[in-house]
Amino acid sequence: MFRQPQGAASGSQLHAAQDFAPALKRLAILGSTGSIGQSTLSIVDQFPERYSVASLAAGRNVDEACRQAVRWRPKMVSMASEELAGQLAGRLRQAGVTGVDVVHGTAGTVACSTLAEADFVVSAIVGVAGLEATHAAIVAGKPVGLANKECMVAAGEILTAAARERNVPVLPIDSEHNAVHQCMRVGAHAEVKTIWLTASGGPFRQYPLEKFESITPEQALKHPTWVMGRRITIDSATMLNKGLEIIEACRLFDVPPAQVRVTVHPQSTVHSLVEYVDGSILAQISVTDMRVPILYALAYPERPASTLTFDLAALRHLDFEQPDFARFPCLRLAYEAAEKGGAHCIALNAADEVAVEAFLQGGIPFMGIPRTIEAVLASTPEAHPSTIAEVLAADRKAREAARALLA
Ligand code: MG
Repeated sequence: MFRQPQGAASGSQLHAAQDFAPALKRLAILGSTGSIGQSTLSIVDQFPERYSVASLAAGRNVDEACRQAVRWRPKMVSMASEELAGQLAGRLRQAGVTGVDVVHGTAGTVACSTLAEADFVVSAIVGVAGLEATHAAIVAGKPVGLANKECMVAAGEILTAAARERNVPVLPIDSEHNAVHQCMRVGAHAEVKTIWLTASGGPFRQYPLEKFESITPEQALKHPTWVMGRRITIDSATMLNKGLEIIEACRLFDVPPAQVRVTVHPQSTVHSLVEYVDGSILAQISVTDMRVPILYALAYPERPASTLTFDLAALRHLDFEQPDFARFPCLRLAYEAAEKGGAHCIALNAADEVAVEAFLQGGIPFMGIPRTIEAVLASTPEAHPSTIAEVLAADRKAREAARALLA
């Protein structure tokens, strides 16, 4: 997906490109009440001269949606259901807030992402729920900051084709891919040898393999370096998250799976690296704060001054080690799915989501997660959905297969 954009090849062209950028970017934030959404709003707060809020897709949290709508006065807010939209509309009337169009459901999220007043879409709804709205935004020609990796895993072929056709930038907010994007700005695509995705290794990097069966949800929910949602925290513990990121990297940067490798880096200081054919390896280092990649995506190709500085003097050492495929079979499964593409990538993500939920509810052991995924992948026929509707149908089918296995 990422090619050197026209106008960003040299310093002078970069400045020329900036002249055409709108003075104020009006944002559509999909997933505004989640952690990426809230971090995005804190950046809007910090840079009022650069960013404003056009629309918010807020999901199920009426209290937070109301607070955000009162604070940011968007043109449109979407809630997950008609009932929640009714609640929010009532609350806004009570608060005397007018001019906010309250919509709901998938159609509401799509309306937010394609709103005429939105210049840039932050796609941060977890899971495939944000897929249609993200695709619609690209088709509408709106630049997208992508925090939702499931979109790229399930429909990357479709999304990147649509983006290329319309020359729409898709800027990764996932910290690793954001780092890769930064490191790839300095070289040509053909000069890239390997994309190295860093992984913290999760809480079980050095845990005895024979005890993996009995890992509890409480143990798995403790991530050493990042504070994240429940599914992604479990996905980090199984390293399936890194597996999804391998596929995401293949799609975003248009490289085969063999060109994407994982290195375990417990400090989570280097967010990823790009190795060039001449032997140079470029790395991106910054504080472990999602506002760094969010601001990069929002401001690209500019780099606004920020207070998110990294204390180099406090850095003592950087460790890198090979990932252990025996402890983390999800990595192997992800490479296999990445090779096959299409329905297998969809099934990898869908089966994992079902299996993680079962694990969190005490229904299956920790290693039941990779076993469930492997069984679903084995029963998935090779197919390459060409529309979002086909992707969603394949996603439902894989979920049903996973549920049937676990029943
Ligand atoms: Mg990541």
